[in-house]
Amino acid sequence: DHTSISTSPLQANAHVLLLPLPLQGHVAPFMKLGHQLVRHGSKVTFLTTESIRSQIEKVDEEEHMRIISIPDGLALEDDHKDDNRLVQSFLHVIPGHLENLIRKTNEDELIGTGQITCLIVDVVLSRDPIEIAEKMGLKHAIFFPSAPGVLALILHLPKLIAAGIIDADDGTVEKNEKIQLSPNLPAMDSADFIWKRPGNKSNFNQKDVFQYLLLVNQILKVPNWVLCNWFHELDPSANALLPNIISVGPLPAHDGKSTGNFRSGDLTCLPWLDRQSPGSVIYIAFGSTSKFSQQQFHELAFGLELIGKPFLWAVRSDFIDGISIEYPDGFQDRVKNLGKIVNWAPQEKVLAHPSIACYMTHCGWNSTMESINMGIPMLCWPYFGDQFWNKSCVCYGWKVGLEMNPDEGGMVTKHEIKRKVDELLSDEGIKANALKLKELAQNSAYEGGSSKNFRDFVAQLML
Ligand code: UDP
Repeated sequence: DHTSISTSPLQANAHVLLLPLPLQGHVAPFMKLGHQLVRHGSKVTFLTTESIRSQIEKVDEEEHMRIISIPDGLALEDDHKDDNRLVQSFLHVIPGHLENLIRKTNEDELIGTGQITCLIVDVVLSRDPIEIAEKMGLKHAIFFPSAPGVLALILHLPKLIAAGIIDADDGTVEKNEKIQLSPNLPAMDSADFIWKRPGNKSNFNQKDVFQYLLLVNQILKVPNWVLCNWFHELDPSANALLPNIISVGPLPAHDGKSTGNFRSGDLTCLPWLDRQSPGSVIYIAFGSTSKFSQQQFHELAFGLELIGKPFLWAVRSDFIDGISIEYPDGFQDRVKNLGKIVNWAPQEKVLAHPSIACYMTHCGWNSTMESINMGIPMLCWPYFGDQFWNKSCVCYGWKVGLEMNPDEGGMVTKHEIKRKVDELLSDEGIKANALKLKELAQNSAYEGGSSKNFRDFVAQLML
């Protein structure tokens, strides 16, 4: 319950323009950030693509929170499901629109009040927008929606190049080493450098990503503030990475509701969860973009049957790579008294439900933070990018989860799935750690914790 956070009086002379990357895992935390800014007395304009706006507007618009949009720049014939193309296109169209949009928004406001005073931009989009903010005399901040070690990795890139560990051009690992980026976190395996973990996205180019991260390394030194979506105790040393870091996590759900969601969660799973015993249900969800092969999908289904415990499984219609969802023959009939399958779960409500025992996750940073915030032990099954590193922190840093190990053919077998679920559910140490971390997370959202940083930040915006 975060409702006791005291808010500043509404002297809304700060007006923040929020600019997230147009992807689910970015829009959602930005929207939470927006609602928090409103609660602390700021006015917010949220800028996204037309298509995303049409999906989130009704739920998320409130007094002092306005959502505006621009075209994503993709042509009709482009593949609109290709995240990489969408991001490239958005990066390309933003600079041409931003200055005019800010002027136009300011013209719509009463003279002298309500003018945009600050831009908070996604780290991936930050170069041109920050330049525009500087030119227009606005305050500016970067929002970093990933894990502490990822920020440390980006800031250490020049040192890793100088030490001959990675190639300066494409990030190829020259020396396989474990890199200790923080005294509080596990050493990072060079195989887990985020540009080395493309998943099965065919259009993901390691060199481009690496070069982009080098650029981000420079950009991170420019803004007035770098807002990070974690809380201090997850890695106390991260505060020293940059002089102007403000940790704002865990960002609470707005009035307990999911925000910035492109799909609406299937609420029928909540009464179903009410009917299950406390701490009995395995929740399975792999975020908005992970995909399984048909064979791996079936193996997971067989694994759930083998475990024989209640489960809630979020299966997106595009979850199997290349084809529509096909369950093993008779699976749905056999598990109809055991499991509940939904297309998209109201995840934060699910993780907060007393029936949940553990969360089988892809370790996306938002999901990881949500699980930590609710004290739920995790079964880690990373897919790409920073998820492998997040898994290491969950299992070997904060010790609140276990990892699934694929066999030699890269398959996580039904026996491994059952073994790990059984092991996790009987591990009292992990459960206790998860509850301890939950307490730290929740305390940090109260007086004296991150919320104090947040209030100080908003106070500076109001100057
Ligand atoms: N999510 C949800 N319902 C689902 C699956 C995911 O609400 O069935 C939400 C989840 O709560 C999280 C976001 O989608 O906020 C996924 O973000 P994350 O960073 O974990 O992963 P990504 O989608 O970026 O891979």
